[in-house]
Amino acid sequence: MLTSEKIKKYAKSLGADIVGIASYDRFDGAPKQLDPRYMFPDGKSIIVMGFRHFRGVFRGIEEGTFWTSYCSMGYASINFIQQPLVLWNVCKMIEDEGYEALPVPNNFPWGGTNCYNPPRDKNIAYQPTPGFSMNVSPDKPTPNAFIHMRLSAFAAGLGDIGYNKIFLSPQFGPRQRLAAIITEAPLTPDPMPEEKICDRCKMCVKACTVHAIPTDKTVKIKIAGKNIEWADIDVEKCAQGFQGATSETNPFIVTREDNEGYTGPGTGSYKTPSLYHYARALEGAAGCIRACMIHLEEKKKIKNRFQEPFRKRKPWRLPQV
Ligand code: SF4
Repeated sequence: MLTSEKIKKYAKSLGADIVGIASYDRFDGAPKQLDPRYMFPDGKSIIVMGFRHFRGVFRGIEEGTFWTSYCSMGYASINFIQQPLVLWNVCKMIEDEGYEALPVPNNFPWGGTNCYNPPRDKNIAYQPTPGFSMNVSPDKPTPNAFIHMRLSAFAAGLGDIGYNKIFLSPQFGPRQRLAAIITEAPLTPDPMPEEKICDRCKMCVKACTVHAIPTDKTVKIKIAGKNIEWADIDVEKCAQGFQGATSETNPFIVTREDNEGYTGPGTGSYKTPSLYHYARALEGAAGCIRACMIHLEEKKKIKNRFQEPFRKRKPWRLPQV
C-alpha cells in the first residue's frame, strides 16, 4: 500500500534531503496561475522535496577566489541532475501503485516565472507575458501555469518563508532547492509547524548587494490556514544583483564596458556566459542565503551543524569600477 511514509523514505534514499506532503485544500485562495488544482484537477496531494546546497558551494565566493561551484554544483546540478532523477524514480514508484504522478521540476527555462512579467500590479500575483502563450479556454490559467515552489514547501509543512522570501527549513535554513510531484494518490499531509524560523533580524536586507530587499515594504498572504509575510523584493534589481551587478563584489567587472554588461538590460551582454542557465549566480546570494545562514547558524536554528562558523574573515570588497 502506498503511504506518505513509504514515499518519503524512498525519495530520501534517492537523494532528496527533506520531503513533505500537502493536501489540495491547503491551496485554497491561491491565484489561478499558481494553483496546482488547475494543473491536475483530479489530483489530491503534492509531494514537495528539498535538495540541499552544500555550505561549501559558497566558500569560494565568500573567500573571493572560486565562483563556479555555487553555479554548477549548486544551482545547475541540483536542478538539472539531482531533481529530475529523484522525481523520475518517485513518480515510477507512485504510478506502479496505480496512481498518476505529475513531476514538477524546477529547471525548465520556458516554465515557471519565465512565462510571467514581474508583478507590477500588486493585486495580481504574476501577469503572463503578452504574446508568449494563449489560454486554451477562458476558465483556465495561461500556459504555463506553475505552482509556487516555496509556498508549496510551506504548505507541505517543511518550514517557513523568511523575510527574504526564501524558503527556510529547520534542517538547512535557506540552503535548498525545491521540486514537487502532484499526484492523485490520497496521501496523509504533514502537520504545519507552529514555530517560525525567521526572527526578522533583517541581516538579509543589510547584506543584499543591490538593496533589493526593502526594510519596510512587505507582501502578506494566507496559505494553508496561516498568515505569512515577506519583504516586497524588487525582482528586477534582484535579477541583476544575483548575476553580479555590483563591481564591488564581482571580480569579473574589470572595465566600464564589463560593468554595463552586468547592469544593462537583457542577458546577451554578460561577460560570463550562462552554463546550464545558471553560471552567473556571481553574487553568491550574499544577503538572502549567506547572511541568513550565518545568522540562523549563530542562533542554532539550523540542524545541519558544522565544526566551524561559516564566516571567518571580514568580507572582501573591490574598488568600484
Ligand atoms: S536574514 Fe534574518 S530576517 Fe532575513 S530571512 Fe533570515 S532570519 Fe529572516
